[in-house]
Amino acid sequence: MNFELPEDLVGIRDITRAFAADKIAPHARKWDAEKWIPTELFKEMGKVGILGVAFPEEYGGAGLGLLGMSVVVEEIARWCGASALFIAAHTGLCSTHIRIAANDEQKKHWLPRLATGEVIGAWCLSEPHCGTDAEALTTRAEKTAKGWVLNGAKFWITNGKRADVFVVTARTKTGERGARTISAFLVEKGTPGLIIGEPEDKMGMRGSDTVPVNFENCEIPAANLCGELNNGYVDALRVLDRGRR
Ligand SMILES: Cc1cc2nc3c(=O)[nH]c(=O)nc-3n(C[C@H](O)[C@H](O)[C@H](O)COP(=O)(O)OP(=O)(O)OC[C@H]3O[C@@H](n4cnc5c(N)ncnc54)[C@H](O)[C@@H]3O)c2cc1C
Repeated sequence: MNFELPEDLVGIRDITRAFAADKIAPHARKWDAEKWIPTELFKEMGKVGILGVAFPEEYGGAGLGLLGMSVVVEEIARWCGASALFIAAHTGLCSTHIRIAANDEQKKHWLPRLATGEVIGAWCLSEPHCGTDAEALTTRAEKTAKGWVLNGAKFWITNGKRADVFVVTARTKTGERGARTISAFLVEKGTPGLIIGEPEDKMGMRGSDTVPVNFENCEIPAANLCGELNNGYVDALRVLDRGRR
């Protein structure tokens, strides 16, 4: 079996290694003490192609898939786990959900900007009472004449303090349980009723913002449904499955 990386991955590995040594290693300890990594770091990662490594080329990425993402996460995590966690949530969770489930218009709108770091993404599945058993979520989305109203509480949301777009799972079949009673929605930063809490104090990973995210009568347009109605939990499991291979 050949364990050598293909040439294009060696290239992005070397770029990421140099970037991490120069821009991350000297500051990682300070960022942990200060409990914040400057968002500018992630914008720079986008500019040099680190964030877009796994995105398809048609959306501005390098098309290097999961192996590409593993290579860059490994190089970044060597110096700063919190910076690596940013990529895992931004690229692996939020962007992957949009890539596998969103419609063409949503993909064209969000993916090129996520690939270059112009916008930052977060993914909201977990809730205070359910992590592994995410199907037990109680955040709900109610249909209105104009779109949807979200109410509920999400917990441990990586990048929540700095994200521009949130993929949010919510129950769309009220009073029912089961995988096909939940949908996913795109919620933009600044939407009234989207309330971002304060970061958790995590050992060794403080630079990454992990926050509670609450929805209080948060109104979003009908066009912000991400994926098929009642298929959001199935899509979320597909997202998690990719991260666990
Ligand atoms: C740093 C950090 C960042 C995170 N970022 C995000 C994010 O961006 N978005 C998001 O949605 N979530 C995020 N999470 C939440 C994370 O996905 C959950 O913590 C995870 O799903 C585990 O949930 P839990 O902690 O509630 O553990 P639990 O669900 O309480 O599980 C505890 C233990 O019990 C085991 N267990 C649970 N159920 C069973 C069962 N039926 N049978 C046998 N064993 C079982 C589990 O394997 C685990 O070992 C983050 C968490 C952390 C710590």
